[in-house]
Amino acid sequence: MFKFILWIGLGYLFFRLLRGRPATSDARPESRNQQGSGEKMVKCLECGLYVPENEALAGGRSYPGSYFCSRKCQQKRSSD
Ligand SMILES: [Zn+2]
Repeated sequence: MFKFILWIGLGYLFFRLLRGRPATSDARPESRNQQGSGEKMVKCLECGLYVPENEALAGGRSYPGSYFCSRKCQQKRSSD
């Protein structure tokens, strides 16, 4: 009888693992579009090019919340 309960417990754990897996693998193709894990793409305020947030130049005090793809674009914008 104890063995029977043990198998139900194992079956339940296995079932939970099986149910948990597809949910995480389903979410993967969407994040793949954004180049790698959790990398956010931001739009250049000047030319409209999309660049990874860690490579983009922040707009700073003049353009809070905005980004530039390069220093060239940043200078172009601030000179206007
Ligand atoms: Zn740009």
